[in-house]
Amino acid sequence: MKQGNPHLILKQYFGFESFRPMQQEIVETVLAGNDCLALMPTGGGKSVCFQVPALTLPGICIVVSPLIALMKDQVEALHANGVSAGFLNSTQSAEAQYKLENDCLAGNIKLLYVSPEKLLSAGFFSFLKRLTVNLFAIDEAHCISAWGHDFRPEYTQLKYIKEQFPNVPIIALTATADRLTRQDITKQLGLANPEVFVSSFDRPNLSLAVRPAKKRLNVIYDFLNTHKNQPGIIYCLSRNMAEQLTQKLVNEGYKAACYHAGLSVNARSKAQENFLKDNIQIICATIAFGMGIDKSNVRWVIHYNLPKNIEGYYQEIGRAGRDGAKANALLFYSYSDVMLLRNMLGEGVKEQVDLQLTKLERMQQFAEATMCRRRILLQYFGETLVKDCGNCDICRNPPATFDGTLLAQKALSAVARMQEKASLGTVIDVLRGSRSQVIMQKGYHTIKTYGAGRDVPYLDWLSYLHQFLNSGLLEIAYDEGYALKLTERGKAVLFNAAKVDLVKFEPYAEKEEAKEDKRTKKEIIQDELFEKLRSLRKKLADANQVPPYVIFSDSTLQEMAQEKPTNRVAMLAITGVGMVKYENYGHEFINEIIQFVTSQQEQGNKVKGATHLITYEAYKRGLSLEAIATERKLNLVTVYSHMATLYEQGYDIDISRYISKKEYLAIEPVIAKWGADAKLKDIYEALGEQVDYQKIRLAISIFKRRNS
Ligand code: ADP
Ligand code: ZN
Repeated sequence: MKQGNPHLILKQYFGFESFRPMQQEIVETVLAGNDCLALMPTGGGKSVCFQVPALTLPGICIVVSPLIALMKDQVEALHANGVSAGFLNSTQSAEAQYKLENDCLAGNIKLLYVSPEKLLSAGFFSFLKRLTVNLFAIDEAHCISAWGHDFRPEYTQLKYIKEQFPNVPIIALTATADRLTRQDITKQLGLANPEVFVSSFDRPNLSLAVRPAKKRLNVIYDFLNTHKNQPGIIYCLSRNMAEQLTQKLVNEGYKAACYHAGLSVNARSKAQENFLKDNIQIICATIAFGMGIDKSNVRWVIHYNLPKNIEGYYQEIGRAGRDGAKANALLFYSYSDVMLLRNMLGEGVKEQVDLQLTKLERMQQFAEATMCRRRILLQYFGETLVKDCGNCDICRNPPATFDGTLLAQKALSAVARMQEKASLGTVIDVLRGSRSQVIMQKGYHTIKTYGAGRDVPYLDWLSYLHQFLNSGLLEIAYDEGYALKLTERGKAVLFNAAKVDLVKFEPYAEKEEAKEDKRTKKEIIQDELFEKLRSLRKKLADANQVPPYVIFSDSTLQEMAQEKPTNRVAMLAITGVGMVKYENYGHEFINEIIQFVTSQQEQGNKVKGATHLITYEAYKRGLSLEAIATERKLNLVTVYSHMATLYEQGYDIDISRYISKKEYLAIEPVIAKWGADAKLKDIYEALGEQVDYQKIRLAISIFKRRNS
């Protein structure tokens, strides 16, 4: 049977000009009939890796996904691109399932999404054997491994796929997998010599920042102020916190809703639906939220509390900016969250607890770090970034260091004098000469270093002590009530005056406030158009009962706002505008852009591509070219060249009114010889200086349109 051309399919259905580097290799591997394992960050573009082969090969692709809530969304997105797809899971009626199965048997479905339960249910394999399955895609493949952070026992049964369909390639996809998980996936799925593709986990469009948790609500208000209308998620550690925070935001007038596992199914799906449809801006959620959503225009993720591990953190922030447009990740860090998380981990199998504790420590180190955050994250996933990223808080405000030897000696001496029995908070209290009950009771107010650091504020001390921990001068004895202990390096500082560099503590919030609107006029106009396109998208989405990002992604709208396409060719050149979407929505977006551009021009703002559109309007009003030239105070030659451009771009223009067939035929051979992009002057001379420039310009536009 015939194979399609993957590049054409990519353009036609998805509107993408080219594959991302890893996608191309993966697609080729799958098309060659080989198994593979694809590791890509969230937003890396995994779907294309199986959707394009599914459309390229004859037959049907079976996509196994544990995220039932996501299926509907993915299928909707495929439909919007003109791809026939369906899903089968427990949420459907028997009737709907039966109908879809018949559609599959009739060969009308190219991608079928199923839950693992459905795949393994009685009779399903024999149903599949009646189809021509071209590929099995196992999404969220890390769920198969007990080493991962999201183990699902039912996933281990997927090994039957290979037994039943030894000749059908399998592609396993995941956004998180360390070496162990990777091995597990390969082994458990019984993949045959799979090619393993590890794409960079870097998400350069995500701006990273960590702030102290103190007064975080105010920081959040400031943040929301500078990110108006942008949808985002705030992750909280507990249901209670999520609820309280939602209430506060709602009281402040924000459109926010709460999402956690304790709410009714109804309340949850309502919150999710409203968020997907851009009816509400903010979701305050526990980690229960997000696995089930594919919203590509989440513009920011805030962690109200510290996440349990870097895998979870990275996955959660990865939900922002999946469309590749700029997005923000902001994490609030407090030591009390660390304590809380440690206590939550307390019970269970010892090895599991130890593993989780180690992961939490890495998370904490990340939060406290004074070097490029992205480097740390990528290092964690085994990838080395050769340069600082320039898009994290540390890179933006590179910390100044100073000689902190004296401060270190004070702190270390306090630790020593309390017999290494005091916790971090107590050490600070002693340094600052606090009269707290604990200190009085234990008699710490009598030690020599009591009050020796009175001049340094609490938060500064906190930062310095974290740095001492990070640089290994101190360590925490988790099994002794979190008492601080001196390390060998710490002793060298205390007793031998080894030098210590410290990063100056600066409250982040204050710095950021100085930020002003640095956009150029052009960018401001672009943003204005983006907002217009966003409203249009929302209107169309509501009319079609789909989430807005299913119509076009934010990055597609941004490209439109920048390029301002006002005709078919230009619109189809925008990333994310495929054939079906162009046919369904292209005109309305073009109209919106034309309207915007002309109104800007009228206000005296120069906008790219505007001038010939105004000429077009006048032409549509029935004015002659001379009248247009007079009205617009333009040279007649200019108006002719507008007409030529318009005609070339496919506008509805009766060109024969300005150049006769005979005239054209006389010019055509010269254009053919010199090329349509030759200088007008050359063609003019080649024609013996007998033909007007404007006729030549018109003839070129006809030539180009005919030969495009
Ligand atoms: P993942 O499943 O890995 O999280 P998706 O498949 O949802 O990622 O893709 C993330 C985003 O990248 C989507 O908005 C998608 O439209 C876009 N995208 C994917 N592949 C390409 C490509 N080749 N060119 C342009 N955009 C792409
Ligand atoms: Zn950085």
